[in-house]
Amino acid sequence: MKVYDKMIFELSRPGRVGYELPANEFKNDALAGLPADLKRNEPLDLPEVSEMDVVRHFTNLSSKNFGVDTGFYPLGSCTMKYNPKINEEIASLGEFAGLHPLQPAETAQGALEVYYNLQQMLAEIAGLSEFTLNPYAGAHGELTGLMVMREYHNQRGDTKRRKVIVPDSAHGTNPASAMVSGLEVVQVKSKPNGSIDVEDLKPLLNDEVAGIMMTNPNTLGMFETEILEIADLVHKAGGLLYYDGANLNPLLGKVRPGDMGFDIMHINLHKTFSTPHGGGGPGAGPVGVRKGLEHLLPNPRVVKEADGRFTVKPEDRSLGSISTFFGNFGVLLKAYAYILSLGKENLKNVGPMATLNANYIKESLKDDYLLPIPGNCKHEFVFDGLKDKSTGVTTLNVAKRLLDYGFHAPTIYFPLLFHESMMIEPTETESLETLDEFIDVMHRVAREASENPDLVKDAPVTTIVRKLDETTAAKHPILTYKAYVAAKEA
Ligand SMILES: *Cc1c(COP(=O)(O)O)cnc(C)c1O
Repeated sequence: MKVYDKMIFELSRPGRVGYELPANEFKNDALAGLPADLKRNEPLDLPEVSEMDVVRHFTNLSSKNFGVDTGFYPLGSCTMKYNPKINEEIASLGEFAGLHPLQPAETAQGALEVYYNLQQMLAEIAGLSEFTLNPYAGAHGELTGLMVMREYHNQRGDTKRRKVIVPDSAHGTNPASAMVSGLEVVQVKSKPNGSIDVEDLKPLLNDEVAGIMMTNPNTLGMFETEILEIADLVHKAGGLLYYDGANLNPLLGKVRPGDMGFDIMHINLHKTFSTPHGGGGPGAGPVGVRKGLEHLLPNPRVVKEADGRFTVKPEDRSLGSISTFFGNFGVLLKAYAYILSLGKENLKNVGPMATLNANYIKESLKDDYLLPIPGNCKHEFVFDGLKDKSTGVTTLNVAKRLLDYGFHAPTIYFPLLFHESMMIEPTETESLETLDEFIDVMHRVAREASENPDLVKDAPVTTIVRKLDETTAAKHPILTYKAYVAAKEA
């Protein structure tokens, strides 16, 4: 093992230091008022290493990680597009990063203008009336949007509307958000192609229905062609339509949720609008509403006054507040920079390019991989594992083998509609050369599966960590050096 492949604790040598602290000008007086039980009796158990050890350790560690900046990342439903570095530069400008959320609005006019403009841009992109940028993530946006739905019915005195219809193919956050918002989930069936079964929907619609949650294109990457009929049926029954806009990417510049009949939606800025994500990094899930629902959006709100100044005003009829202050402002800045740098003309190409790339891969691979739903997809599609099932090579094996070839795996075993789901989303930012290389490798893995199945079943072999025992990793994760040592000695 190379020196810097070791854990930082293993590099530790007594007395080695990589820092120098200023002299403590308070001597021991600084601790005078501290209760005895809060005082540390023994020094903290930290690795004792030099500055160079630290730099090499973390730099080497960073190169073992997989990210959009290191390779192709076709993780379906996650829209792992490339995030231009200019977004980061804008978000880290001291004039923005140094703002305090409690400083007076007069002293933060530029930031409030960005905030206001982004609300307007999203409203235009979505075909809706107004947006709040407060929610921190997609699921948080869903919760906020469903609270809007609930408040809408409550404020009209229509309090028995407590049911939200959610398709059985929905993203797991949808039913969860409905429950958390205090509404009840009613499932509607999908047809074999993943779209909502309108005949199954009809009998579910009555005066207890608050609304329906949908994503379009659905989890299989297929466009719901009956959306106008569905919207009509739900509206006639007195319900509202909620659009899970996490998958907005393929529609950018082509179709607007507002025009499809949706009343409320969220957008994942950390998918469609180019903010790095994965590993739980900060996100943003702005929520938009159609005309007539604006007053229900959460506080605080940024308002543009007649004289052009920006102010922060609460609205009495609002559902309340759902975040501390204004949301993840850094993420909002990145989305703003992304939209402005693409401009209206180029933003229109995002959806069609993402769709073209997905269809190109799907058509190129369908002889080796089982395509359960033929036809044109949008930004992503699902294979049901290898076509030849006789070798025993599973979707998990193929996913691990892809790592050996330097590609991130697709989303696997989701959606649950198929046993061997493999969900591929290339996004619009990849070149033809990258797509061709991926296709080539997928063909090669299929060939390996029939000629030498054990090679694929044993993968990955070139990665830092080999195949994990997934149950143990989930149930007994080893998250500290001490636990690692204990497990090794046991
Ligand atoms: C990613 C995703 C979500 C959840 O977004 P988070 O920001 O992870 O909370 C919801 N719905 C769909 C369809 C998604 O793809």
